[in-house]
Amino acid sequence: MGCARCGRRQSDPASGPSDWRRGVLHVQQVLVCPACAADGALDSLDRCAACGSTALVRRLGETTCRGCGAVDCAVEGEGYAEAPAGGRSALEADVAAALERVLRTGVERDGEAPPASRSQH
Ligand SMILES: [Zn+2]
Ligand SMILES: [Zn+2]
Repeated sequence: MGCARCGRRQSDPASGPSDWRRGVLHVQQVLVCPACAADGALDSLDRCAACGSTALVRRLGETTCRGCGAVDCAVEGEGYAEAPAGGRSALEADVAAALERVLRTGVERDGEAPPASRSQH
C-alpha cells in the first residue's frame, strides 16, 4: 500500500510504518507518508465526528476512532484532488463540470416555465 496522496511506496519496510500515518479515506484504510502528513494531508482524511481526530482505523467493517474509541461515527474527508496514479483526474473534472452545467441548465429551464394550471381557466 502506498501513500494515499502522492502514491509513494514505503521504501524500507524494515524501518517500520511508524513514520507513516494510518487513516481512513472514503471509508477505506489508507496510509499517508511522512512528507504528506507534514504537509497537512491528514486534514483531508475522514475524521471522527465526536472528537475531530483523523486517527481512524478500519477493522472488521467498522471505523474505529483511536482518539476517543467511537465506532462508525466518521465524517468523510474531502480527499485529494490529484489521484495517486495521476493523469485522468483533470479530464474527469472536465466531464463532471460539463455534466453539472447541463443538469443546472435543465433545472433553470424548469424554474422559468410558468405553472400552466391557472392560465387554462
Ligand atoms: Zn505522500
Ligand atoms: Zn473520536
